Amino acid sequence: MNPFESLGLNEPICKALHELGFENPTDVQKHAIPFFLSRKSDLLALAQTGTGKTAAFGTPILQNVDLSENFTQALIITPTRELCNQITSDLKNYSKYIRGIKIVAVYGGSSIVNQIKELKQSAHIIVATPGRLIDLIDRKVVKLNRVQTVVLDEADEMLNMGFRDDMESILSKTPDEKLTGLFSATMSSDIRKIANTYLKGAEEITIGKKNSAQQNISHQYAVLNAKDKYPALKRIIDFHEDFYGIVFCSTKIETQEISDHLIRDGYTADCLHGDLAQTQRDKVMHRFRHKAIKLLLATDVAARGIDVKNLTHIIHFHLPDDIENYTHRSGRTARAGQKGVSIALLHIREAYKLHQIEKLINVKFERYLIPKGQDIVNTRLKRFIEAFAHEQNEMMSELNNELVWPLMKMSKEEIVQKLVSQEINRMKLNNTEIDLNIDERAKEQRNSTSRMDRSDRGSNRNSSSRRERDRGGNNGSMIRVFINLGKKDEIKYDDLREIVFKTTKVSGRAVKDIEMKGVYSFFMTDTESAEIMIKSRNGSFKGRPIRIQKASDRK
Ligand code: AMP
Repeated sequence: MNPFESLGLNEPICKALHELGFENPTDVQKHAIPFFLSRKSDLLALAQTGTGKTAAFGTPILQNVDLSENFTQALIITPTRELCNQITSDLKNYSKYIRGIKIVAVYGGSSIVNQIKELKQSAHIIVATPGRLIDLIDRKVVKLNRVQTVVLDEADEMLNMGFRDDMESILSKTPDEKLTGLFSATMSSDIRKIANTYLKGAEEITIGKKNSAQQNISHQYAVLNAKDKYPALKRIIDFHEDFYGIVFCSTKIETQEISDHLIRDGYTADCLHGDLAQTQRDKVMHRFRHKAIKLLLATDVAARGIDVKNLTHIIHFHLPDDIENYTHRSGRTARAGQKGVSIALLHIREAYKLHQIEKLINVKFERYLIPKGQDIVNTRLKRFIEAFAHEQNEMMSELNNELVWPLMKMSKEEIVQKLVSQEINRMKLNNTEIDLNIDERAKEQRNSTSRMDRSDRGSNRNSSSRRERDRGGNNGSMIRVFINLGKKDEIKYDDLREIVFKTTKVSGRAVKDIEMKGVYSFFMTDTESAEIMIKSRNGSFKGRPIRIQKASDRK
């Protein structure tokens, strides 16, 4: 018996899964499929990205659809349009042999008129991002009063992105009698609260260790001076010739800058961030999926939900402001049981964050040694020589002796020497000096942070550095700053950076470790930038004057 059939899935779905190469169910599928099919109770599933959760909730939802009815029977809410598109396309693949099923994706940044047209032709299943869905509910195009199943996918990310109110408003439009599935990569008190409020007698399953990163990922770090990060990135790409990965940056501007530099230096790269129109994003993703570009520079939000097979590396050009995003970033690699590498390029000031991530995801990072110029030459030369030694060309036998005569006159040693030196010249060497000893100094810093943290058990994860900052104290030459904009203004980290840049002309990259609250936020910046920011008094947001001041000066 097909293993998916024994979980209760019917023949058309099993056939489609078989064609997709799904031979055995993943852990989350083994648990969730029979559970969803039986509709016993709600489900809270803690599962990392890449564990096969789309099929875990998607296949039973498809099977439960009553095709003789035209109303919306299932709703899947996701944080980003990329994930929304990904899930929709997965569901369409799984339902290839279910005739007449209608699955519609609704998400912002794309024509609402087309989405309305599609919805009017009926939608058994709607996959949606919260904002656009509410818009369509308000326009009375979407009716959720007969929905039987609701899935909140990547619920932790929806909360991070400030969608709590939207989520609650959507759920209030659905009937009480329904099956709800909540999928989250991480467990936090907020997720627990949502589960307690909206799930009834839910079964809880945890795939892998709670809040743990995927086991198949090797988590590594290197500590570098800020100026060395770019040359180090190029060394990593040069050294791993099969490199195919995503480099995470902290701002849209940074993705653009690094991508421009890489292209200028001869690499195939492109960037993905929130300012791109949907068609541009689709184009970039299409090129990336087909390996026309091997390197994608992305912000956290833009890269959410990306499911590209066989990525070898995830590079963190900066660690994320919200350390829980680390799991989502690294989860882009090692998908469907494969292996992957996640490398954090740290500035010495970010070292403390690494320790927090280690605690959060319960893994020990290994030190990554940035390859030296000579390492790259050696590996490349090795590959060249191996390929050269194995090359067999049928044309050789037809070669005119006169043509090769100059070579015949040379000794074996001379030929080898010339060949190798020519290949070395061909390689564009990246010989920038990189301070590699800084790693040792960082290790000391990490150990001392770790000691501080250990003496502070029971407090929250940012506590040691936050206490320092709360006193208004300097963290090295960093200072904690207050700004009167926050989640209630419906802005994200990148938006805040951009607003600071537009108001103060200080680069958004100087805005670090943002803690966004309701109507205000705190962030860290260097003293010099803080001074300029505080002095700029001419900005406003939606008609409200922007106020920036030292956190310690705030009453
Ligand atoms: P997901 O966590 O749903 O985003 O899935 C991650 C990746 O695993 C996707 O590329 C899926 O196509 C793939 N996948 C999901 N389930 C299976 C399975 N049972 N066997 C093989 N690949 C799978």
